[in-house]
Amino acid sequence: MEESTVRDVDTGSEGGGEDALVGNVNKLMVSPPGYSGAPRRGHLVFDACFESGNLGRVDYISEFEFDLFIRPDTCNPRFRVWFNFTVENVRETQRVIFNVVNFSKTKSLYRDGMSPVVKSTSRPKWQRLPAKNVYYYRCPDHRRNYVMSFAFCFDREDDVYQFAYCYPYTYSRLQHYLASLERRNLPYLQREQLGLSVQQRRLDLLTITNSDHHQSPEKEKKLVFLTARVHPGESPASFICQGVIDFLVSQHPVAQILRDHVIFKIVPMLNPDGVYLGNYRCSLMGFDLNRHWQDPSPWAHPTLHAVKQLIVQMSQDPRVSLEFYIDVHAHSTMLNGFMYGNVFEDEERVQRQAVFPRLLCQNAPDFSFSNTSFNRDVVKAGTGRRFLGGLLDDTSYCYTLEVSFYSYMTAGSTAPVPYTEETYMKLGRNVARTFLDYYKLNNLIKDNRPTHIQSSEVKSHTGGGNGKGNGVGRDAADREREKSQGVRH
Ligand SMILES: [Zn+2]
Repeated sequence: MEESTVRDVDTGSEGGGEDALVGNVNKLMVSPPGYSGAPRRGHLVFDACFESGNLGRVDYISEFEFDLFIRPDTCNPRFRVWFNFTVENVRETQRVIFNVVNFSKTKSLYRDGMSPVVKSTSRPKWQRLPAKNVYYYRCPDHRRNYVMSFAFCFDREDDVYQFAYCYPYTYSRLQHYLASLERRNLPYLQREQLGLSVQQRRLDLLTITNSDHHQSPEKEKKLVFLTARVHPGESPASFICQGVIDFLVSQHPVAQILRDHVIFKIVPMLNPDGVYLGNYRCSLMGFDLNRHWQDPSPWAHPTLHAVKQLIVQMSQDPRVSLEFYIDVHAHSTMLNGFMYGNVFEDEERVQRQAVFPRLLCQNAPDFSFSNTSFNRDVVKAGTGRRFLGGLLDDTSYCYTLEVSFYSYMTAGSTAPVPYTEETYMKLGRNVARTFLDYYKLNNLIKDNRPTHIQSSEVKSHTGGGNGKGNGVGRDAADREREKSQGVRH
């Protein structure tokens, strides 16, 4: 491998060494080694200095091949998964192979057909690359690390091409979305700033409920608390979260009924700095916030600290009953949507906990009850699900909702169906409407208004919609499987 000749387009300074991994590449023109003439078309210009961008270094291998290095999470070199960068100054019909050479994980959905997403100036909708152009393998040139290579043919010289690990969903996108919601002046929606991140970004909290129906103070309100993007690279979580919000603020009859009976509190982005910076798992200071629920610091983990304080406060409020806490994530090795729940000694509570995932399985074709599992691993003691499962009383349920970065299998499908931004949002809508089924089953809601959704006759002891096993009592097997896969969430 030759050392690349790299020039910063703006400053002309040299870059590209090991220390380039500290920051993102900024308008980096990669010319052939030894080339000193005027820049030419086809000398690719890489850039990741934008929101949620991530690319740390580019090595020129040949006219057709480039090694790409992911910039590790800020203050935590262990995590290198998310990438998001642009390429311009391309030549028409220029064919290249990009090798992403420094992933920190070995197990990957790339083995199952996942591919990076791409868009360009003239085709602004993200698409997945054809799986046949993507290769994932142990590479002898890179100490036998796993390398993901993809072939690409540029076709429009004036286009800027953007490649990413998965569909990006930035902090600014969330801010625009929330601002557009606010402008609608919906009487049942409230947006507030719950706190600020270390870099002074907003920690937003939405409350969705119909306050007209809060008139009976003697009766406590059911409360559902949802958080997303504690892990910043897990962008599908934001599409799910937006799907939940879009549904709950809509005029859909199910949403109207839910707003009458339930208070929804939603923190759509628990780690806004990590999202902004293009990290995969950590905050600005390199903390995996989903391991710090037990003792978050107001200065080192301010967003987590604020959310935890609010939840603890609500758990002590006699006017509300905090019944659900759901933390939304994306999964880098599994297919489908699925949940993690807690393990309890009390069998009846175990069965009650399985009800919501069973109902969701009936509403969402991409949700798998058989992938859903319940565990109490020591390594997950600092997660929101585990911590709150211990804090809240035995009538509450804490879950991690996971969705594949790649695809889902349905009962009838023979091949995995890749997720799109729309199908992630649809899973969010299905999560939201499942609360109606749940509360009808539990007799909180006895509403005869048409809902378009059949109240499902589900008993907690019968099998879920997709067959394989009943999901509970599989704790030990699941723990073993997760251990062997090195699964984190
Ligand atoms: Zn996660």
